[in-house]
Amino acid sequence: MISRIEKCCIEKRIKMTDQRRVIARVLSEAIDHPDVEEVHRRAAEIDPRISIATVYRTVRLLEAENILKRHEFGSGRARYEEVASEHHDHLIDIESGQVIEFHSREIEELQRLIALHYGYRLVGHRLELYGVPTGGRRGGSREALTRQFKDEGSDH
Ligand SMILES: [Zn+2]
Repeated sequence: MISRIEKCCIEKRIKMTDQRRVIARVLSEAIDHPDVEEVHRRAAEIDPRISIATVYRTVRLLEAENILKRHEFGSGRARYEEVASEHHDHLIDIESGQVIEFHSREIEELQRLIALHYGYRLVGHRLELYGVPTGGRRGGSREALTRQFKDEGSDH
C-alpha cells in the first residue's frame, strides 16, 4: 500500500526512489512530530542503507513542496508533520518535548475576531503553548499523542 505522503509526491510528480518511499511512509505514520534524527532512526530500521543526509534532503524537499510542515516548538530543532493533517494547534511539554495536539473552536473564533478588528480576514495562524506538567499527567504514552482535540464536527 502506498503511503499518503508518497501519494502526494506522485501527484506533484516528485521522483520517488525506494529510500524516499520508506521515508515517506515513516513520516505518514508518525503522530509525534519527529525530528530528522528520529525519522532517520525509524527509516533505518526498515532500510539500514538510508543515511541521515538522505533523510535531511528528503524532508527539505517535502517541506519545499508543501507536503511537510516544519515546527520548532521553541527548541530550535526542526520537527515535522504532514501538511495534510487537519488544522490543530500544539501544546508542548517543555520538560519531555512531548507535543499534544488540540483544537479549540473558541480560540479559532477569537483569532478570527482579532484579525477582523484590525481590518484583516484571517487566512492562517500558528499557535504554540508551552507548559510543564502539573502532576495529573497522562505520561509519555503514545496514546497521549493521538489527535484527541477534535471538537464537535468543526472543520477548520
Ligand atoms: Zn501537529
